[in-house]
Amino acid sequence: AYKDIATPSRTKEILKKHGFSLKKSLGQNFIVEPNILANIVDAAALDKETNVIEVGPGIGALTEVLARASKKVVAFEIDDRLIPVLADTLSPYENVEIVHQDILQANLAKTLEASGVDVDERLMVVANLPYYITTPILLHLLEAPLLIDGLVVMMQKEVAERITAAPGSKAYGSLSIAVQYRMQAEVAFIVPKTVFVPQPNVDSAIIKLTRREKPAVSVKNEAFFFEVVRSAFVQRRKTLWNNLLIHFGKDDQTRERLTAALAEANIDPKRRGETLSLEEFARLADCLNDKKL
Ligand code: SAM
Repeated sequence: AYKDIATPSRTKEILKKHGFSLKKSLGQNFIVEPNILANIVDAAALDKETNVIEVGPGIGALTEVLARASKKVVAFEIDDRLIPVLADTLSPYENVEIVHQDILQANLAKTLEASGVDVDERLMVVANLPYYITTPILLHLLEAPLLIDGLVVMMQKEVAERITAAPGSKAYGSLSIAVQYRMQAEVAFIVPKTVFVPQPNVDSAIIKLTRREKPAVSVKNEAFFFEVVRSAFVQRRKTLWNNLLIHFGKDDQTRERLTAALAEANIDPKRRGETLSLEEFARLADCLNDKKL
């Protein structure tokens, strides 16, 4: 057996050996607690029939645990200084492919195919995300033309709360809806700062997203549904009515159509966006769509 990378002493040794200094601007907070990694692997229910996409392998702490538990790991790392480090630390594992690329620029389907991954097999994303771009990464993964079965990812606790929020709560917004439309979302664990080197300023959480068999609500036009959702949260303090006017226009014809659509959808224009459920947003978007807005 090999010594785990994710211990304070081994991590220190690896950083020293390669003369590596952590970059805050790349969200480099490395995990130095093997138990957290075991919990992550459990939450993702990995097995030898499952392939894994990892974002930001760092020095490979999570990557090696994923490699042991899954069929194949394809890990995207932006920092060129880490590529030789990973080649060293992950040399015992044959089922790991390190891709030196910004995940946001990556064509996931193409890269997986080039790595010999059969995209019809179970596919999970497992990562300790760089916190400065958590939301863009999640949206990039969810919008990729690739059927990801689920994600188990570490992020800032506050973002985890927004993603899993229910209607009516302060954290509920367009991000909650963008994720919950396709995925069932739950917070799996809260993670203390002490498991990272260096310790981040914020609390962390691991969330688990599981793809729904079909979207949470059915809508006539998906792009328009998301447009309506985003418009309702542009100014959180304002009523739905005011946000819709700002987005669609304030002329008389638009006002008439908005009024009719809201009445048809049975939604009080004086409510705020944060009180509407996914079902209500779907109904509203379909009625607005029918009125040619
Ligand atoms: N997986 C390691 C761990 O858990 O110890 C490191 C996680 S660290 C929070 C985030 C990692 O993401 C860093 O290695 C960082 O260099 C990398 N990273 C930052 N921005 C990235 C991007 N746009 N694409 C790919 N990797 C990125």
